[in-house]
Amino acid sequence: IERTLSIIKPDATARNLTGKINAKFEEAGLRIVAQKRILLTVGQAGTFYAVHKERPFFGELTEFMASGPVVVQVLEGEGAIMKNREVMGATNPADAAPGTIRAEFAQSVGENSVHGSDSPEAAAEEIAYFFSGLELV
Ligand code: ATP
Ligand code: MG
Repeated sequence: IERTLSIIKPDATARNLTGKINAKFEEAGLRIVAQKRILLTVGQAGTFYAVHKERPFFGELTEFMASGPVVVQVLEGEGAIMKNREVMGATNPADAAPGTIRAEFAQSVGENSVHGSDSPEAAAEEIAYFFSGLELV
């Protein structure tokens, strides 16, 4: 059984959408096995999104991710990484399939409500960035 790291981003926590987004995960068969609400610094957001540090939107992305609380969570299920990315929908909400989280809730390509790990290697690294072994049962 697979695990993935999910983040409910500041645009979504600001609009009180945590429960509606979590319902989408649970309806898709993903189990929320760890979850906490935290406020990242710009530096911590930059470490998390280090793969994007040469991209033109890096500054905008890290400032956005530090602009308000996020909910970091570990989702578990069969094929959880790909399943979560399906439930999230495309990065740009204009391209996201109907019924996906980004189609329903995202505001723009940057303020797109959720993050999900994109590979098993990324999932392991991202889960370890936010959660200790004691927090994962
Ligand atoms: P995430 O990594 O957050 O799950 P993703 O894998 O769909 O999203 P990435 O290409 O990894 O998309 O981009 C990471 C994040 O950077 C996006 O979710 C979005 O918030 C932001 N981003 C991506 N492209 C742009 C852009 N052109 N302008 C502004 N922000 C962007
Ligand atoms: Mg990504």
